Amino acid sequence: MKEFRHFINGEYTASVNGKTFENRSPVDNSLIGMVHEAGQIEVDAAVKAAKQALKGPWGRMTAAQRTALLNKVADRINERFDEFLHAECLDTGKPHSIACHIDIPRGAANFKAFSETLSNHPTEGFRLDTPDGKGALNVGHRTPKGVIAVISPWNLPLLLMTWKVGPALACGNTVVVKPSEETPATTTLLGEVMNECGVPAGVFNVVHGFGPQSAGEFLTTHPLVDAITFTGETRTGEAIMKAASVGLRNISLECGGKNPGIVFADCDLEKAVEGTMRSAFVNCGQVCLGTERVYVERPIYDAFLKRMKEEVAKLKLGRPEDPEANFGPLVSLEHRDKVISYYQLAVEEGATVEIGGGIPDMGVDLNNGAWVEPTIWTGLKDDARVINEEIFGPCCHIRPFDTEEEVIALANDTHYGLAAAIWTENSAKAVRVAEQMETGLVWINSWFLRDLRTAFGGAKQSGIGREGGVHGLEFYTELKNICIKL
Ligand code: NAD
Repeated sequence: MKEFRHFINGEYTASVNGKTFENRSPVDNSLIGMVHEAGQIEVDAAVKAAKQALKGPWGRMTAAQRTALLNKVADRINERFDEFLHAECLDTGKPHSIACHIDIPRGAANFKAFSETLSNHPTEGFRLDTPDGKGALNVGHRTPKGVIAVISPWNLPLLLMTWKVGPALACGNTVVVKPSEETPATTTLLGEVMNECGVPAGVFNVVHGFGPQSAGEFLTTHPLVDAITFTGETRTGEAIMKAASVGLRNISLECGGKNPGIVFADCDLEKAVEGTMRSAFVNCGQVCLGTERVYVERPIYDAFLKRMKEEVAKLKLGRPEDPEANFGPLVSLEHRDKVISYYQLAVEEGATVEIGGGIPDMGVDLNNGAWVEPTIWTGLKDDARVINEEIFGPCCHIRPFDTEEEVIALANDTHYGLAAAIWTENSAKAVRVAEQMETGLVWINSWFLRDLRTAFGGAKQSGIGREGGVHGLEFYTELKNICIKL
C-alpha cells in the first residue's frame, strides 16, 4: 500500500505521532494508500527549514541560476510524465486523455514560463530634481518575500500547485505546500524531482493534512510564514484572510465562481456548443472557471439546448485509463453528496431536468465510486439557490434572454466575479459586453484559453489579487525603493 509522507528539508518524513488518514480512489472507493497528517511539530519543522534555506545556497543564487534549476525541474517532470499522470489520475479519477493534455504538461510548464518572465522583467527608475541642482536617482529593487505558504485545492492538483510554486521559487522565495487532503500524490512526487534536480534542501517543503485544526490552519497561522497564496473555496479564503491578519502577512486568494456563459443569436452555433460543453463538463465540472449559468438569446435557444443535450448524451463515462472515456467521477463521495444535494434542490426549486440529474449505473465494479450524471436544467427562477451558489459539478442551467442589457444584468447578478464566456461573431458587441462583465477574466469565442503572461484572478468574492506573468512580482517580491542622492 502507498504511503504519502511529508517532504521537509529535502527528506520524506513520517508524522511524529504516527497519525495518518486514508486516501481513497473516487473511481471505485478502493484504498489507494495512507497519508501522514501533519500537526504543529511537522509544520513548524517545515517552516523553519524553509526559513533556513533562504540563508543557504538558494539565497545566494542569481536569477539566472534559479531559472536554469527551475527549467530542469520542468524537464524532469516531463521525463517522468507517466508517473505524474498515473498518480494524478489515481487521486482524482480524471481520464488520462484529459490529464495528459492539461494537468501534467501545464503543471510542468509553470516552472518554465514564470522563471523566464519574472527574471527578465525590468525594474522602475525615476530621476528626481533637487534644490541643489544635482538631483537624485530612484531605483526599484525587488527581494524575495521569504517563506510562502501555498494552500492548494484538489481539482487540478499539480497544475494549480506549480502555478504558485513556480513563480514563488523564480522570485527566490522558499515554499511550504499544503496540498488538498484529497490529492496528495503529485505534490509528494515533486519532492523527488526537486532532489533529483539539485534544488537545495528546505526550498520546497510539503506538509499533508486537512484545513481547520490541522496542517492548513497550523501553516497559515505560523508566525514565520511571510505570505500566503491560496486557491479554494471563498469561505476558506475568508478563514485564511483572518489568519493572515495576525502579523499583517500578505495574501493572494483565488476562490470560487458561478460563471456565466452568454450565447448571442449571431454566434457560430457549433463553436458555442463545443465551448460551452467544455466549460460546463470538462473535469466533471470541477473547474473554478466553469460555466454553471448559460444565457442564450431567444431566437437560437431551442436549437442550442437541443445540440447541448445531444452532446451531453455522447459523453463517455469510464475509468481513467479507458482511452474512449472523457468523463470521470467527482473527486470524492463527500463531494458527490454535495453535488447530488443540488441535483435534488434543483427539482425542489422547480427545474426541468433536460438530461441527467442522478447517479449513473456504472456496474458492480464502479458503483461504489463518486459518479454522477452530467446534467442540464431549464426553467429555474433567477433567485433559485441552484443559480446562485457554486455547485462545482457537471451541471448547468440554460435560460433564454431577449436583450443585451438584460443579459449583462443577469450575468453580473452574483457575489462571484471570476470568469465569463461570450459567444458572438459581432466583435464590437463582444467587447462592449466584455467590458461590462464584473469579472477578472472574460473569454470571447473561447474558454480556458490561457496565456501564462496575462493577469489571472477574480473580482468580488472570487478572490483578491492577480497572479500570472509579471503580476506575480507584486505578490512574490518586496519592492524596495533605493534613493541615490547625486
Ligand atoms: P477548499 O477551500 O475546501 O480547500 C482548499 C485547500 O484549503 C485545501 O488544501 C484545504 O485543506 C485547505 N483548507 C481548508 N480549510 C482551511 C483552513 N481553515 N485553513 C487553511 N487551509 C484550509 O477548496 P477545494 O474544495 O479543495 O477546491 C474547490 C474550490 O476551489 C472551489 O470553490 C473552486 O471554485 C475553487 N477554485 C478556485 C480557483 C481559482 O483560480 N479561482 C481554481 C481552482 C479551484
